[in-house]
Amino acid sequence: MAHTRHTGKPALDPARVRSEFPVLSRFVRDGKPLVYLDNAATSQKPALVIEALDEYYRHYNANVHRAIHHLAEEATTRYEEARTVIGSFIGAENPREVIFTRGTTESINLVAHAWGRKYVGADDEIMLSEMEHHSNMIPWQLLAKATGSRLVYIPVLENGELDLDAYRERLSSRTRLVALTQMSNVLGTINPVADMIRDAHRAGARVLVDGAQSVPHMPVDVKALDCDFLAFSGHKMCGPTGIGILYAKEELLETMDPFHGGGEMISKVSWHEATWADLPHKFEAGTPNIADAIGLAAAVGYLSSLGMDDIHRAEQALTAYALEALRTIEGLRIYGDAANRGGAISFVMEGIHPHDISHFVDQDGVAVRAGHMCCQPMMKKFGHPAMTRASLYLYNTRDDVDRLVEALERVKGFFNRAT
Ligand code: PLP
Repeated sequence: MAHTRHTGKPALDPARVRSEFPVLSRFVRDGKPLVYLDNAATSQKPALVIEALDEYYRHYNANVHRAIHHLAEEATTRYEEARTVIGSFIGAENPREVIFTRGTTESINLVAHAWGRKYVGADDEIMLSEMEHHSNMIPWQLLAKATGSRLVYIPVLENGELDLDAYRERLSSRTRLVALTQMSNVLGTINPVADMIRDAHRAGARVLVDGAQSVPHMPVDVKALDCDFLAFSGHKMCGPTGIGILYAKEELLETMDPFHGGGEMISKVSWHEATWADLPHKFEAGTPNIADAIGLAAAVGYLSSLGMDDIHRAEQALTAYALEALRTIEGLRIYGDAANRGGAISFVMEGIHPHDISHFVDQDGVAVRAGHMCCQPMMKKFGHPAMTRASLYLYNTRDDVDRLVEALERVKGFFNRAT
């Protein structure tokens, strides 16, 4: 059995991991074994996450923080335990700093409204990178329009890395916030966010890290990064859809205004005004997504049991294998050649539309994504309205990569014959 170099723990075994994900044994398209390579869009779920949801609904479904009956107590305890488990997974000091949201998108919108409308003014700048997902762009565009503030972009270089010199030059006392993805969902680039956060803080700016593509794939520690905000989604990390997290430093959450108003987020209410509940409840109006919070904690427990270091290491090895294999296909160009990168691999093939590629490989049971991947301005910069993306996760194997490469060769053969 292969062992991890330092820990003596068995190295990640994708074959064993695969067996824990029921959907991966499916056959699609007239009996083709499924090769799932659309993990940057959403990951598959292990049986224990599905069982955690089932157990909640079968055995202790009740609303939280309200009633004092047995089921309500059980549901409340498990919901708050979930917050603690997820908080320690990202190194948060206190579960009060962990807010349940619907996902990365809602987390970022929460910050744009509850922090941005209070602290960003007409002379201020919000700095984004050109590789941001629309989820980390549109909320800031809306904020800039509402406040008269200005968006400033960090350019992406040809190799898919950020232009860090331009970043440092553009940071100034006007920069109120830097909102930055830790891993690009298109280029796979892993940005040096710890250094960039240090630079931003020196300039007096706050930093929001979009962890949608990093938290599922590598160890992320909010204390080590010293980020002010971190947003991520459960569904990309083996958890359910409709649940995600906003981590924020307690001192910021304390002074921010609420995002949504309603039940649960108040302390005292009179006809014309109200005071707010303590953290984290001030930011969780209404009945929360109890089942999926518990499901996300199960997913976090699962990932932790495998070890985020090992998951990251295995994915990096598989990514290197996939990049090498894809480069053997003539006419295929990969976008994203950063020295530090993860397993989201986007490419174009000469003379073949990405949607055709996706459609054809799907006939062989291979699921990949085609489109603008919610990064329209960057796609335009690279001169392609769309690309094809294969994205890897902990259950993918070299065999999956080989099946993708064979399918792509068949697509190429088909189009070569047709022209
Ligand atoms: N940020 C990045 C980098 C992403 O890849 C995604 C989803 O693909 C998001 C944000 C948005 O995540 P969600 O749709 O779960 O809110």
